[in-house]
Amino acid sequence: MKKLDLHVHTRRYSDCAFIKPEDLITRAIEEGLDGLAITEHGMRWPEREFNALRSQAEARGLLLINGQEIYTTDELGRMEGEFLVFGFTRSLTGTYKAVDLIDIVHREGGVVIAAHPYKLSRNGKMHYYGVGDRLEYLKVDAVELFHPDQNERARSKVQRVMKKRGIPGTGGSDAHVASAIGACFTIFESDINTEEELIEEIRAGRIRGTHRPAEEKK
Ligand SMILES: [Zn+2]
Ligand SMILES: [Zn+2]
Repeated sequence: MKKLDLHVHTRRYSDCAFIKPEDLITRAIEEGLDGLAITEHGMRWPEREFNALRSQAEARGLLLINGQEIYTTDELGRMEGEFLVFGFTRSLTGTYKAVDLIDIVHREGGVVIAAHPYKLSRNGKMHYYGVGDRLEYLKVDAVELFHPDQNERARSKVQRVMKKRGIPGTGGSDAHVASAIGACFTIFESDINTEEELIEEIRAGRIRGTHRPAEEKK
């Protein structure tokens, strides 16, 4: 069994984040996590740089996974949600429709997780900063069930789609500051050690999302 926070940003490549890569490791260990995934906006860490950080983490018993978070739009430029991508070895820097993104990643053997599908947008209007109900029609491999901006109501909507589609739910903190790391995380039944194994376990559905006990009060 392994506990991984599958959704973390660092200030190295996400302008909106304040987490220094070196603090990332310390904080994750303090939180009792076995690993975490770096998912910067619109890019994957260059392999060499990532491997250096991963070695540091592994020396302290922490698994680091290289991923990315991709923003999608329809042909009119309207948001179609954000997606966490694993197993795609280049940065997905272009603009993609959600269906196309999923297709591109699947063709290379990767997996796509719908990020915070029912997170409410902060512009005061009642729409989602996520894929929302269109989730049902997208061939994502998993969906982020536990996210700090998804309350119980949002989670019950996610669970409905999980059931309908037969896909698992993940947990990720979407941390932009170190203290947020581990607020939500994913439990892997198997003792995974690589990105390939992570992908395999997500596809097999041998995972489940949750949050740390303190988050229950919210
Ligand atoms: Zn996001
Ligand atoms: Zn994010």
